[in-house]
Amino acid sequence: MSLIVQKYGGSSVADAESIKRVAKRIVETRKAGNDVVVVVSAMGDTTDELMDLANEVVPLPSGRELDMLLTAGERISMALLAMAIKGLGVEARSYTGSQAGVITDGQHGSARIMDVTPGRVRAALDEGAVAIVAGFQGFNRGSGDITTLGRGGSDTTAVALAAALKADVCEIYTDVDGIFTSDPRQVPAAQKIAVITSEEMLELAAAGAKVLYIRAVEYARRHGVTLHVRSSFNNNEGTLVVNSVDGESNVEEPLIAGVAADLSQAKITVVGVPDIPGKAAQIFTIIAGANANIDMIVQNVSAASTNRTDISFTLPKTDGAGALAALESSKSDVGFENLIYDDQIGKLSLVGAGMRTNAGVSATLFTSLYEAGINIEMISTSEIRISVVTRADTLTEAVRVVHTAFGLDGETEAVVHGGTGR
Ligand code: ADP
Ligand code: ASP
Ligand code: MG
Repeated sequence: MSLIVQKYGGSSVADAESIKRVAKRIVETRKAGNDVVVVVSAMGDTTDELMDLANEVVPLPSGRELDMLLTAGERISMALLAMAIKGLGVEARSYTGSQAGVITDGQHGSARIMDVTPGRVRAALDEGAVAIVAGFQGFNRGSGDITTLGRGGSDTTAVALAAALKADVCEIYTDVDGIFTSDPRQVPAAQKIAVITSEEMLELAAAGAKVLYIRAVEYARRHGVTLHVRSSFNNNEGTLVVNSVDGESNVEEPLIAGVAADLSQAKITVVGVPDIPGKAAQIFTIIAGANANIDMIVQNVSAASTNRTDISFTLPKTDGAGALAALESSKSDVGFENLIYDDQIGKLSLVGAGMRTNAGVSATLFTSLYEAGINIEMISTSEIRISVVTRADTLTEAVRVVHTAFGLDGETEAVVHGGTGR
């Protein structure tokens, strides 16, 4: 008898029919003799719709109230799913994150899990019931308030419960057959990956592949939880995310694991910065004070005639307004000339552990973009990743040509079973 944690994403429980379909699958797993804990996301695009609603009421909703609102989405799906399972004759009980013992810090909108005390979940299992837990939410002991874990955070709930309950496996059910070499919605030639290392998946998730939430991958890596990402629409094997590809099996790691695209970033250029020591420190201290997360940074060579330089960096669009306001208010202090804000950028990232030992990866990447007539505006690298910034409207084309250039195209077209891609 195994203990299985199954997480169903929003697209897998988008309507009543889908909820019944998922309930059947859970009942089959239970009847096969397993203990089953289910983590469920809000139905379809509910979270986005609730967010839109909040923004119609007020431009900057309070974090506490926004979390109260958004967690309602998962409450709806967990209760409906428990009803559907009971309807099939199997005992099931739903729990909010707080009832399931998901204890977090107090950071509304992006809370971190501090502890998991799943006493009630364990008791439900001991009594033979299926436990359904609302994903994406927790409870802060200090304030006594409800928190959310950040968009896509149901993945983290599933991993955290799997770790706390010492589950045999954590299955992440979604609307594609697993983790692909690129987003199947953008790249029909993308192929399913059978096994990927958590190291590569972390880079892909950080680079915009939202199939898994980065914090969930981090958590799984730290606690040794093996993830199986698969489709809730069929019984195909999906993708295993493992801590390292087993040397004994003699599987040679592919050069490139995948190509990710990210349209969520913007670029700020600080024009005419005096080229003297301390200016970068001053600028990025201001940005840090505005709680903006910087990604790439480029500083130009200063013009000899003026001894001034331009510094560009990328950051999430959602941090853009705050960073601009903070910089503007320190304009005379820093002594720069003006600011340029550009939210029409796209970031392509090529990820692969094989890059460490293979020369020529950047040459192939840049050549393929050049041949497609795509201009590169910024470049950054890590040990197993190369990222480039292009115009937003050329990003999909860029991802496709790079995917082809590295021989990643498959023979059959990747299938997307549901969801709106929102
Ligand atoms: P869920 O609602 O199940 O959490 P998400 O929308 O968060 O689903 O994640 C699944 C989606 O991730 C897929 O529909 C796909 O468009 C997107 N995606 C992006 N990159 C990849 C990738 N490399 N492999 C698979 N899916 C990807
Ligand atoms: N419902 C939340 C979201 O849409 C959490 C999740 O689906 O993982 O971000
Ligand atoms: Mg998700």
